Amino acid sequence: MSIKKDVFSEIEAIYPELVELRHQIHANPELSYAEFATAALIEEQLKKWGIPYVRLPDSTAIVAMIRGQSKQSPCIGIRADMDALPIEEAANVSYQSKKKGIMHACGHDIHTVNLLGSGYVLNQLKNRFAGCVKLVFQPAEEVGGGAKELIDYGVLDNPPVSAFLATHVSEDVPVGSKHSFRAGLVIIKINGRIHKEIYRLFYKLYINTLKKLDLAYQSARNGVYDDCHIK
Ligand SMILES: [Zn+2]
Repeated sequence: MSIKKDVFSEIEAIYPELVELRHQIHANPELSYAEFATAALIEEQLKKWGIPYVRLPDSTAIVAMIRGQSKQSPCIGIRADMDALPIEEAANVSYQSKKKGIMHACGHDIHTVNLLGSGYVLNQLKNRFAGCVKLVFQPAEEVGGGAKELIDYGVLDNPPVSAFLATHVSEDVPVGSKHSFRAGLVIIKINGRIHKEIYRLFYKLYINTLKKLDLAYQSARNGVYDDCHIK
């Protein structure tokens, strides 16, 4: 079966669980440097899915690792922020914030779950690509400092990360209407909702990144990735 079909079927299988996870995180938002329950939930999922990870000492930051087939191949990083904002939620939804004065107003609940979901799919299909992928759950984006903590810890090393990918949701365009990629910044416009398309795009992007970086990988030469192109 083509890798694209496998990606899509993995997405279908996990999608309802991811929506639940997103609602759970949205209902329990945590401010910068206090993402304790969020980190615990991430750890729980990674354990459940058998994805190895480390939690940084005295921190809510988590780095998980998915290893593909070839140890010599490059490593890419995927990063999501996890923190919420000191804003009162006005939306009357079933998963409304349970914390007075705190809400996921910037969509980091979506980013966190998108990264978990992408990690799940990549882990399921890790025998289909070379290299490795670091899943980086970053605290404290809103107040700054979370990324530095991870860099100081050595997230860019052992193995060195050749490229980093990240997304930010936007609510100013209709769901699924446009997606844009550019070096330095990736924007996937999904109107503040989890959208299945994000995983497809993520995966295509990862595969293409790995393919470009990994000139020596045999399966790439054999055309395993031929059906994965960014449109
Ligand atoms: Zn944000």
